[in-house]
Amino acid sequence: MVLEHARERCATSLNALVEEIVFCSGATEADNLAILGTLYHGDNKHQSLLCSPTEHAAVFETVRRQEQLGRQVSWLRVDSAGRVDLEDLRQKLTSSRPSIVSVMLANNEIGTLQPAQEIGALCREFGALYHADGVQDPKTAAHLISTGSVDLVALSGHKLGGLHGGLLYVKQGVAINPQIVGGSQEDGRRGGTSEVIRAESLAMALEHSLSETADSASRDILEQVLLSIPQAERLGGDHRVCHISSWLFGNLAAEPLLVALDMRGICASSGSACSSHSVEPSRVVQSMGYSDSQAGGLVRFSFGWDSDTKEVQSAAETVKEIVIKMLSKEVKQR
Ligand code: PLP
Repeated sequence: MVLEHARERCATSLNALVEEIVFCSGATEADNLAILGTLYHGDNKHQSLLCSPTEHAAVFETVRRQEQLGRQVSWLRVDSAGRVDLEDLRQKLTSSRPSIVSVMLANNEIGTLQPAQEIGALCREFGALYHADGVQDPKTAAHLISTGSVDLVALSGHKLGGLHGGLLYVKQGVAINPQIVGGSQEDGRRGGTSEVIRAESLAMALEHSLSETADSASRDILEQVLLSIPQAERLGGDHRVCHISSWLFGNLAAEPLLVALDMRGICASSGSACSSHSVEPSRVVQSMGYSDSQAGGLVRFSFGWDSDTKEVQSAAETVKEIVIKMLSKEVKQR
């Protein structure tokens, strides 16, 4: 009863039907289910995939594993801001006739927004399913669903301030095979007892985040200060979400800078961390045409509902002071 009420609320928020909502443990599972669940439905041997190289690991590693297993996979070209090249998409849809195209709505490292409406239209033209990881941009997800532009969307509750949990939107008529096999929960699409509290929390978090107007004040304050650093380069171009701002600072490597910022109470992050906790070059930045060394300098700042503009202003001045000091001392050697 509570579970079905949560499903109704999620469906209403996303302009979807209740039967189009599949609750999962998180977006990683939802992304896996979207790709593998559709791929392994029916005769899958000859189905191929088309994917952007800037995807979150939840999609990227799923697709890469399929490639390693011998499936035909094509990777899309992205520009220096990380946006998919639509001409390249058209060409690859024509030449490789993929059954599924996976391109996220907004990038989690850079904040770049993809031309999702156009991607959806091209996928429809060529009869491919369009899967979008919508974790960083549930608003666009709801819009795409209302216009029928997307077939599968993964969302995460804890990225919206809720408890850990996620969902997969599956457009009516799109068949998926469960990847967690067991009982017939979630209409046979995900075995195992559904987590009622997490579903309820996701419904609340979605309602809340979709009712908020995007506010770029904190990001703009930070960017205004950082743009005055001579060697600073802001990544992601003009089409970006409001809660992410990513930078390269001359030749500065991310790791010493992150440590210095942390010592002054400022939390920032790099692209990804390997198991030894040292900073790895960002795969996303590499695929945007930057060198390995440049990709090792990615520093990302993110903002949330509790970001205070005064605190951001003061933090931005501190970042500037530290970066300039480190650049002048050449504490870098990437
Ligand atoms: N996709 C994107 C774009 C993300 O940012 C994240 C989490 O950071 C995920 C997928 C994975 O989400 P979850 O933690 O719910 O598995």
